[in-house]
Amino acid sequence: MNADDKMTGDVREGVLTIDLQALGDNYLALCDKLAGGARCGAVVKADAYGLGMARVAPALYKRGCRDFFVATEGEGETLRQLLGDDVRIVVLTGVRPGCEADCATSGLVPTLFTLGQVRAWAEACARRGDAAPCAVKVDSGMTRLGMTGEEFDQLLADRELLRAANIELMLSHLACADEPSHPQNAAQLQRFRRAGERLRAQCPQVQLSLANSSGIFLGAEYHFDVTRPGSALYGINPVPGSDNPMRPVVELRLPVIQKRYVSADCAVGYGATAQVPAGSWLAVARGGYADGILRTQSGRGCGWGAGRRLPMVGRVSMDSTVFDISALDATEREALESIQVLNGELTVDEVGAYAGTIGYEILTSLGRRYYRRYLGS
Ligand SMILES: *Cc1c(COP(=O)(O)O)cnc(C)c1O
Repeated sequence: MNADDKMTGDVREGVLTIDLQALGDNYLALCDKLAGGARCGAVVKADAYGLGMARVAPALYKRGCRDFFVATEGEGETLRQLLGDDVRIVVLTGVRPGCEADCATSGLVPTLFTLGQVRAWAEACARRGDAAPCAVKVDSGMTRLGMTGEEFDQLLADRELLRAANIELMLSHLACADEPSHPQNAAQLQRFRRAGERLRAQCPQVQLSLANSSGIFLGAEYHFDVTRPGSALYGINPVPGSDNPMRPVVELRLPVIQKRYVSADCAVGYGATAQVPAGSWLAVARGGYADGILRTQSGRGCGWGAGRRLPMVGRVSMDSTVFDISALDATEREALESIQVLNGELTVDEVGAYAGTIGYEILTSLGRRYYRRYLGS
């Protein structure tokens, strides 16, 4: 994707290219990794991690995905409009109190993580006269969302409630899946498996779901019935420290709007934090922290042009970023129309590290001012 340095689209805009072919290949690669009967879902919350749910979800549907996960009811309703009725849409952060009937009417499966939520769901279903399916989440050790052990015991003891709530799916989430040797993985697996056995003893139809992207790579025993990958679909490395098995999905290219020769030693940018010596060449690119070029990359990050890394110089501004292009020869310098700040070489994971964060935050911070180009379908 990064073969040339020419801008496509409107040269005055930053161009964000999203490769739906690579995304689809990543989905199929994850499907191939799954054990036996496990299904591969897709997490498309936060506008598909910033890449555009309206284009991403249909591309995944085309590859056979029928289990989608979103964060909110609003996202779920948008997705239902996009994909129609033959997909399961699970809302990961529950349902707003009082909105159970709306959620059921939209055919959304809420993830319930307190006993009170399960009771409210059962009551709403009774009032509607039809038992719409829900998911329950148990806390297997992350201590974020999920029923505690005591609440889960109470749920299992209440046969009437179990019948009325129509639980279709049981979830839990791994805290350390990206660290395969962390002992918490096996501990969470064991607690989840045990909880699943107990629930299935009473509700044999319940499906189990534990693994996010990295969880899939922990091995077949983590796959259960449905997996929930997000980041790996979008090219983030699910096995940090090893070669990334996923294809890069995103390329971000900023137009160069000024090139300048530095004839005397000088300071660059806000705070005059960076000094450059006489004889340097700088390129100012359009795109700054308002566009998701995180300011915490200042003095550490880089761009990509003429086939190599080009260091950022000084602080990232709101709308522009300065790069040192002294390493380019005159021909390369003159030909340089744009600088890539994400591509197959300069990965979301690498940029996340420069910014002191993770690739997830780089993607979900991508700005709204770019011209968005989708490849493949
Ligand atoms: C976001 C999320 C996922 C996806 O995680 P990735 O690490 O992006 O694969 C899976 N499950 C839950 C509950 C989530 O919130």
